[in-house]
Amino acid sequence: MKKGILLPLLLIGCQLFAQTEKLDTTLIAKIKEEGLNHSQVMEIAFNLTDASGPRLMESPGYFRAANWAKSKLSSWGLDNANLEAWGKWGKGWELEKYYLAMTAPYYEPLIGFPKTFSKGTHGLEHAQVVLIDVKDSSGLIAYQGQLKDKIILIKRNDSLPLGFKPDALRYTDSELVKMSAFDPKAPVTPNNNFLAFMAAARLLAATKKFANQEGALAILTTSPRNGDGTVFVQNGIPYNDLMQEAMNDVAISYEHFMSIQRLLQHQIPVWVDLELQAKILSDDQQGYNVIAEIPGTDKQLKDQLVMIGGHLDSWQGSTGATDNAAGSAVMMEVVRILKAVGFKPRRTIRIALWGGEETGLHGSKNYVKNHFTDTATKKFNAAGDKLSVYLNLDNGSGKIRGIYLQGNQTAWPIFEEWFKPFHNMGASTLTLENTTGTDHLSFDAVGLPGFQFIQDPLEYGSRTHHSNMDSYDHLSPEDLKQAATIVAAFVSFASQRDGKIPRK
Ligand SMILES: [Zn+2]
Repeated sequence: MKKGILLPLLLIGCQLFAQTEKLDTTLIAKIKEEGLNHSQVMEIAFNLTDASGPRLMESPGYFRAANWAKSKLSSWGLDNANLEAWGKWGKGWELEKYYLAMTAPYYEPLIGFPKTFSKGTHGLEHAQVVLIDVKDSSGLIAYQGQLKDKIILIKRNDSLPLGFKPDALRYTDSELVKMSAFDPKAPVTPNNNFLAFMAAARLLAATKKFANQEGALAILTTSPRNGDGTVFVQNGIPYNDLMQEAMNDVAISYEHFMSIQRLLQHQIPVWVDLELQAKILSDDQQGYNVIAEIPGTDKQLKDQLVMIGGHLDSWQGSTGATDNAAGSAVMMEVVRILKAVGFKPRRTIRIALWGGEETGLHGSKNYVKNHFTDTATKKFNAAGDKLSVYLNLDNGSGKIRGIYLQGNQTAWPIFEEWFKPFHNMGASTLTLENTTGTDHLSFDAVGLPGFQFIQDPLEYGSRTHHSNMDSYDHLSPEDLKQAATIVAAFVSFASQRDGKIPRK
């Protein structure tokens, strides 16, 4: 931010601090009636999940969902609904056929899901499994000449924890109080698990590189999270804009992995049948977001924006219901509700369903770069200054319990007022905490107010996030209705209030 504009912004912030939020109670009642009693959020979610399929970036499933969303938004009367290209993305990957089973010492189907950009096999292949037992990558040389056409496992030393914890959780009152008391200046406790995680990731990358050079057919991978039929599966290679085919890498269930490991440790040969057919998609390598808007009606304010969004892309193991068809469906339902109640915003309301979030927030980052960023200062430009606020939803299917303020103290009293009509729906917590990992960060990075709501975790961490269980059945209709109702009201508040939301 330039020095010259800092002081005026601080003054505006002070004025807002003093402003009492004038909330339209008739409108709130209408929004609650439409959002809670005439909801279409589950029908929207069905179209984004079951009807579209997995929505890996640039895949046919992504475009099925994006095009459906675009026409639905138009049908509700939103303006300028379109798939907006943001620039170069890269290639896509689509799984076309897949089979995995152990055939010796006996037949057993294996639960597994290929990681993205796995290059595929030559039809059905019959391969022996080799257990790689090394402390670090320096030990790999011992396997030289032994891996051609083999399927490999890297030996694991962990075990499956017993499932004493419930899958689904809601925040307790004390957890919410603790969140609210968060001090941004408090020292951060280092995470010891992170170092072990990074060491394992380095060994996996080195082993894959070595095994690929040696002509191995595939690697099977797992972790103790992959128990009880749930397999977490993402990318086989890190994102880059070339996105070339990579070694076959299949995430399998922990129980199947460890069973094979124990057989091999007992010198019992294990054979596996694997067929994997995948297509690299390179026709259109632009990245796309879905954008639409409800134009503002106030002469002075209609050039200003209130933005909402969630990411539309997903991983490939399921239909990405909680990550993030849920957030996309809620945000679509928000604009549907506002249209249905005949709301005429002062500021323009714009919805964005982002692409490319899963590999690094690419859709929102590029949108903010193309529209709102001064290339020299990397802070928001004049167009960005017309954005009042961006609200994001991407923490699963759980209802809204409050909002992460990203250290924006001046926004606190505003949101505090806004939550008052929704205390009886479980939403009231404000925290200065900086929550990470999703698209509000793209706005926050250039100094624009971007916020993610606090949502009940439900089964997000335990079961659905990036797994083969992220399906429609794990969506909670009542939670999604609550979220859409609250966001619709917040959007109306943001578009009607006299001032914009203050910057940090
Ligand atoms: Zn997500």
